Amino acid sequence: MRVQRAAGNRAAVQVATTSRRPAEAANPLGRTAAYDRRIQRQAIPAEADTTSSEGEKPAAYVPTEDDKKEFKLLPRNIKNAKGEAIGTVEEYVEYRHSYFGSAEAYETAKTTADAEFDKMKKSVWSKIGQKESKAAKRVLYRWLRKAYIDAGLADPVSVIKSGMTADLKKKLGEVKKKHADLKTGGFVARPKKLKGYKLGTVSEHGTGNAVDVTPQSRNPHFNNKEWKFILKFTSKTVDRSAKRWKKDPADVWRDIHDLNDAYVTELKVKVDAVKAERKKAGKPEDEPAAYRSVLKGQRTLIETAQKYGISHGFFDLDENLVVDFGKAGFTWGATFTNSVDLHHFEV
Ligand SMILES: [Zn+2]
Repeated sequence: MRVQRAAGNRAAVQVATTSRRPAEAANPLGRTAAYDRRIQRQAIPAEADTTSSEGEKPAAYVPTEDDKKEFKLLPRNIKNAKGEAIGTVEEYVEYRHSYFGSAEAYETAKTTADAEFDKMKKSVWSKIGQKESKAAKRVLYRWLRKAYIDAGLADPVSVIKSGMTADLKKKLGEVKKKHADLKTGGFVARPKKLKGYKLGTVSEHGTGNAVDVTPQSRNPHFNNKEWKFILKFTSKTVDRSAKRWKKDPADVWRDIHDLNDAYVTELKVKVDAVKAERKKAGKPEDEPAAYRSVLKGQRTLIETAQKYGISHGFFDLDENLVVDFGKAGFTWGATFTNSVDLHHFEV
């Protein structure tokens, strides 16, 4: 009680946030994420003993040649489950051993996963990951196998073999009845991603419960920081709550549609201003492209502008399509709390 009174609302918010995240909810002592990270950093060798007294540092694990090869095989922008970048082989093995439990536990998991992978037909292993090499997919499967099992899917190979779940096939069928031309991404056994794979997770695309409307980059996946930029840029707010989506998908669609219109208008005004300034200074008006200076640092928005032009904005999904996904019982990625995924629908 005393703590709650002293810390006020912030404590309440933190508790609520924590309880929604399984990894942290499992922590019986209510330790902070920073504490856990510190413990994980210390618990590197096989016989890691988290009860050892403080200050007694275990010998650091030195990455082997195999570790270096393994790290090199994976895409460069890999992240941990929380979305924090893994930039070096040292960070990679440290995270790997904390995820699998220890260096030895990883070796055991690797042996099992590799044996399963090596027995897969091409039609199965090719569904793992995206554009990586077969060798990279093999490494990815070590991570995925554990993530599947931890998610309650005890037989990852048969999940990958079957692809989309029956539920998804049925609901997608309902949508496609009305939208015959709809193009959606198929099944992909991969970790969740947001500008890079989050190792130690499995995507809803990998459990067979999600589709992406393609091409994805017309209606991008934003992180919360990027979404905040759009709201600030347009001086707007949008209620993207799951509750609102369930009640009336058209309302959520309309707000995002209007937000996009406001963004396009504002972007044009700002781009014109940059061009006018450049002209005044006797410089080329649109070289480099003026939108790049207006959207400085906004990688996703810049990419979309580059591909589809500034009048496209970031959203062009048809109202009927979005509403029909809602009616068929899909959750829209636009209603997620930790990112805004405009092209993603899941059951
Ligand atoms: Zn998706």
